[in-house]
Amino acid sequence: MKVIVVGGVAGGASCAARLRRLDERAEILLLERGPHVSYANCGLPYHVGGVIVDESSLLVATADMLRGRFAIDCRTRCEVVDIAAAHKTVDIKDLDAGRLTTESYDKLVLSPGAAPIRPPLPGIDLPGIFSIRNVPDARKVREWIEHVFADAPRRRAVVVGGGYIGIEMAENLVKRGFDVTMVEMADQVMPPLDPECAYMVEYHLRRHGVHVLLGNGVAGFRHNADGALDVLTQSGVTHPADLVILAIGVRPETALATMAGLEIGERGGIRVDEQMRTSDPDIFAVGDAVEVKDFVTGEWSLIPLAGPANRQGRIAADVIAGRDARFRGTQGTSVIGVFGATIATTGVNERTLRRLGDDDYEKVYLFPGSHARYYPGAKTIALKVIFRKSNGRLLGAQALGKDGAEKRIDAIAMAIQMGATVYDLEEAELCYAPQFGSAKDPVNFAGMVPANVLRGDMPLCHWEDVDGGFLLDVREPSELEVDAVPGVLNIPLPDLRARLDELPRDREILVVCRSAQRAYVATRILLQNGFRARNISGGMMAHAIRATVSAGESNPT
Ligand code: FAD
Repeated sequence: MKVIVVGGVAGGASCAARLRRLDERAEILLLERGPHVSYANCGLPYHVGGVIVDESSLLVATADMLRGRFAIDCRTRCEVVDIAAAHKTVDIKDLDAGRLTTESYDKLVLSPGAAPIRPPLPGIDLPGIFSIRNVPDARKVREWIEHVFADAPRRRAVVVGGGYIGIEMAENLVKRGFDVTMVEMADQVMPPLDPECAYMVEYHLRRHGVHVLLGNGVAGFRHNADGALDVLTQSGVTHPADLVILAIGVRPETALATMAGLEIGERGGIRVDEQMRTSDPDIFAVGDAVEVKDFVTGEWSLIPLAGPANRQGRIAADVIAGRDARFRGTQGTSVIGVFGATIATTGVNERTLRRLGDDDYEKVYLFPGSHARYYPGAKTIALKVIFRKSNGRLLGAQALGKDGAEKRIDAIAMAIQMGATVYDLEEAELCYAPQFGSAKDPVNFAGMVPANVLRGDMPLCHWEDVDGGFLLDVREPSELEVDAVPGVLNIPLPDLRARLDELPRDREILVVCRSAQRAYVATRILLQNGFRARNISGGMMAHAIRATVSAGESNPT
């Protein structure tokens, strides 16, 4: 059997290596148009920032290694320029020699990835405007910084796009001494997050000196009188820049698939089945170029992440080798670190559920410690958990914190993939010692709090629903001096049992504290004394986030 793999990075190299491990006799030809295979695109922003010093560290495996260890005929600088599916051949251009050759295949695997979007804006091709996809791209940015601007008195960068790559590049350019402005067309950074969580990321970026401009697209670029670039925005404001990074998303590379007559899906990616087979049974496709089923919503989606690309490459190899492997779909489980904070997410967000008109969900906000509070160094994790109202099934979670956010999201991600409910998280047995977690881990809380809601033990309320309600704040008076909602009645929790006669029996009482923990206890006291009461999810911590978002602080442009 002869298998040709197009694209030698995450999906392609995984596929080729796995296939060799399963089939010693297969003839495997791996074709990569760039100079490197199996490079760490995820490390590129950190190479630009000088965290990963040597370029060679980014090369996870070399072509020689794939040849030697896996007996893969690995050819770099070789671009597949055409596929004749009817004849099962590909045309290959040797980019150095300029020679064109044709190779036949029994099975073909496409893993060409996705290309950075470069809209046809005026001046888009001016020197100093970069996209980051591969090692040569990162080298160009480093050279621009090190040689062209080595002696520049000030360094100004504009990062266009507030997604993962934009944020990582912004942080790394700050590390390189740049004054960074981030221009984002949407009204929030980090699209996988809900706005209130994205706001925390934005706030963190601002605190570390990044100027974040939301709701403002880039209209074009031009040279200015100083020899630098002017970045023109749709709002009419111009930002001078010595360096521009375009990070406004990626588009699946489907040119080859289209030539081969393969079905392209509604989101613009190559359509595959759960065995990564395209509409041609002898052609497989994996990675950023394909559409995948969203594991939670069942919708077709484009989710360009390294984990799914690697798994899909492996599955395609399994299937080619005759095994019955299947891809389960993607949950968009992802993490990013920025200026010491970690932001992680999995599953569906609330915005998507609303878009789908799905109202069978509830959400809770929690602010647990990263480990036992009595052990030094515990940091608060802000956690949002979304679950089915009707049966408690976990739908998604978002976490932000300085420590331990991603390990909680990883546990919840696995639970979501197993179809688990909040009741399963209540029972999850997780490792604990005080420096690592709590005997009731945040993951357990992510089950206990929703389960309390679903069992009716803790009726829940959100800040968006409190208008006109009777508000009871059970914090200590000194805490209300820092922040309080106007018109609340303050009865500290320890006094509540003695002061129940101050509360109305004909109205629902909405209880608030700092993080909703004391308010939960108060709600239980009230319910068991015949009052109608609900706990305001996330308490004043959620209120603070909501208040700043709705005051428009997030969008000073
Ligand atoms: P790629 O890894 O892009 O590989 C495709 C390869 O195919 C390319 O090298 C290309 O040259 C080659 N190719 C294309 N067409 C042809 C052709 N016709 N002939 C021959 N070769 C061809 N994901 C995460 O999960 N976490 C992260 O932290 C993260 N950080 C990232 C940071 C950056 C800067 C970038 C760019 C991406 C990041 N990603 C991250 C995304 C992740 O790298 C991709 O999801 C993953 O690499 C996709 O794998 P792939 O095999 O589909 O495509």
